Parts: sequence; structure tokens; C-alpha cells
Amino acid sequence: MLITGGASGIGAAIARRMAGKGRKVLIADKDRSRGQEVAAELGARFVAADVSRLEDNQAAVAAAISAYGRLDVAVFNAGIPGQCGWHDFVPAAYHKTIATNLDSAVYGIHAALPHLRGHGSIIVTSSLAGLKEAPDPFYAASKHALVGLVRSTATLLAGAGVKVNALCPGLVDTPLLAPFRELLAEAGHAVATPDEAADAVETILADERTGQAWVLLNGQPPYPARFP
Ligand code: NAD
Repeated sequence: MLITGGASGIGAAIARRMAGKGRKVLIADKDRSRGQEVAAELGARFVAADVSRLEDNQAAVAAAISAYGRLDVAVFNAGIPGQCGWHDFVPAAYHKTIATNLDSAVYGIHAALPHLRGHGSIIVTSSLAGLKEAPDPFYAASKHALVGLVRSTATLLAGAGVKVNALCPGLVDTPLLAPFRELLAEAGHAVATPDEAADAVETILADERTGQAWVLLNGQPPYPARFP
């Protein structure tokens, strides 16, 4: 099982849960020291990767195949917030968000697909910001794009034995949220735990549906979003 962004937050919680269930996990992350630490704790493998690059996704998939002989689940989870907004727009900063959040899933699926045909499950971490408006426009754009990617890819792969689903969490208590934590607490926002995201991944893996955007809100079981 491949998990990108598995060195921290949601990805680390998924890795911990899956390793606990006896799955063979390979974490791919750009944070080498945290990634190695989490992998060592779990008896998992780690590969340093910048998943906004196609070659790094190919290397991560090759590492999983070489370590475990097969790939059955790929969780494309690495992501970052928007690096700029309309008031301080910088093309390179905008592209970094799109490359990290969207290109990573496109490249990851491209690299993993040949190994998943016939039996695989792909989960892409989008966000509630992929289903409705959000204060961070380029983050929201990348996450909406992931939902479109998942729904369309799921239809195309329905006959090939590969499930493709999106995880769309609301707020989750991870380092990504740290800069906004006080603000959110003051505003009384409910925040889910990374463990709840791991629960959601278990639900998605056990469910036979494909092409769903699974909404995860604090204190609730995940449920597929309804589309017109
Ligand atoms: P996090 O910052 O704790 O973890 C993100 C991980 O991704 C880190 O380990 C980081 O090193 C890795 N990463 C970032 N860029 C990378 C790159 N180019 N190549 C390889 N690894 C890279 O954040 P998190 O909250 O656990 O976020 C995980 C996913 O969940 C993201 O896609 C995020 O957008 C999404 N999400 C988070 C929340 C939330 O409230 N925390 C809500 C909805 C969706």
C-alpha cells in the first residue's frame, strides 16, 4: 500500500492504522526525517519523494513493487494550502499549489495504474473545499479538480477492476491547520481528528462503490456527497 504525504497528519494516521491492520505500507513524502521516523515506528518503508514530479511518483511505485511485490491500494494524500491569493498573486506560488495537490494525483495514478488493474483501490485526499466554496481560492480549485478527476477516472476504470474514490475532510487537526487553529477555535469550528480520517479510509476500502467523494466531518461517519 502506497501513502503519499504519510509523514504527517492525515497520511501518518492512515499509515498507522493500515500498518496496525497488517497491511504492508510504503510512505512517500518530501519530509525525509519525519517520514523515516514514522516508517520506523510502524515497520513500514519510506521513500523520499516530491510528488509534484512524475519521476518521483514512478520511483515511489517502483519502490513499493520492489519491497512488497505488488500494489493493491494507493492513497494520494500529499497536499499544501494555497501559497498566495488574489491580493498577493504570484504565478509560481499558484502553480506550486496546483502541482502539489493536483499534478501529484495525476502522476501518482499514472504511475500506479498498471499495477492496480484487476484488483486495486485508489483514494485521493481532496477536501470539503473540493465540494463547496472556501476562503483559499487556488487550494479550492485544486481540490475541486481532484473531485472531477476521481469521478471521471472512476467511470473510465469501472471495467478494469479499479475503484477510485475521494476523501473530502472538513477541518482535521494536523500541522497543516496549525496556523489557523486559534482562529478556528474562536469561531467555534468543529475539527475532526486524523484518526477519524483513518476510520474513513477503512470505510472507503470496505465499500464497493467507486467514484464517490466521501465527506468527513467531525463526529460523523463518512458519507458520499450527492451530486445533481
Ligand atoms: P500535513 O501538513 O500534516 O501533511 C501533509 C504531508 O504532505 C506532509 O508530510 C508533507 O511533507 C507532505 N507533502 C507536502 N508536499 C509534498 C510534496 N510535494 N511531495 C511529497 N510530500 C509532500 O497536512 P494534512 O492536514 O495531513 O494534509 C493531508 C491532506 O489532507 C492534504 O492533501 C490536505 O489538503 C488534505 N486536507 C486537510 C485538511 C485539514 O484540515 N488538515 C482538510 C481537508 C483536506
